[in-house]
Order: sequence, then structure tokens, then C-alpha cells
Amino acid sequence: MLLLEGLGPQVAEASARLDEARSSLDQARKVHDDVVGGLRADLESRQAERQSMIEGIDPKLLAVYDKVRRRSPVGAAALDGDVCTACHMKLTTPEVTEVRAAQIGRCPSCDVILVPEA
Ligand SMILES: [Zn+2]
Repeated sequence: MLLLEGLGPQVAEASARLDEARSSLDQARKVHDDVVGGLRADLESRQAERQSMIEGIDPKLLAVYDKVRRRSPVGAAALDGDVCTACHMKLTTPEVTEVRAAQIGRCPSCDVILVPEA
């Protein structure tokens, strides 16, 4: 008992540091919750925006686009003459013909969906 009486100031200091740590933790949790809440709201907004934009698009084309986008920052690009505007590689004449004839033409170099210019 005598030993514990001498520890009073140390216990008080430790208790104060514990209160400070709890306060910091509470502040960090609030910041975390605010950030996560903002990100969730942004995600929901973007999902709703995307949903309205994809209405009427062929689901098969959309599936290919989503598959390409998982691997690449670009999902679709224009075919400018015989050049893919995503990777700037020149396609051969048979490749251009194949892209133009395909329902969903893809770049043989970077694999994005190629949209031939009219
Ligand atoms: Zn390409």
C-alpha cells in the first residue's frame, strides 16, 4: 500500500496521457468517418450518373468496355485513319478492315475498343 501511495503523480500523468490519446483517437475517427462518408456519397452519385449514361448501350459492348477498363485507363478510342488514338500505333490495312467490320473492334496493340471515324 505504501508503494502505491508514492505512485500517485505517475498515475495521474498516465491518466492524463490516456485521456489525450482517447481524444486524439476520437478526432481521428471523426475525420475518418467524414472522409469515408464523403467518398461513399461521391461513389453513389457517380454510380447513379453512370447508370443514366449507359441506358440504351448494348450490354455486350458495355461488358467489353468494363473488361478493358479494368486493365487500362482507356476503354475506347477513335480509330483515326489507320492509327489507334489510345496507343498511337498504326494498324495494318487488314487490321483496319477487321476493326471496321467487327461489331466491337479492338486495337491489336493496346486492346481498347476502337471506334472508326465516320
Ligand atoms: Zn491501341
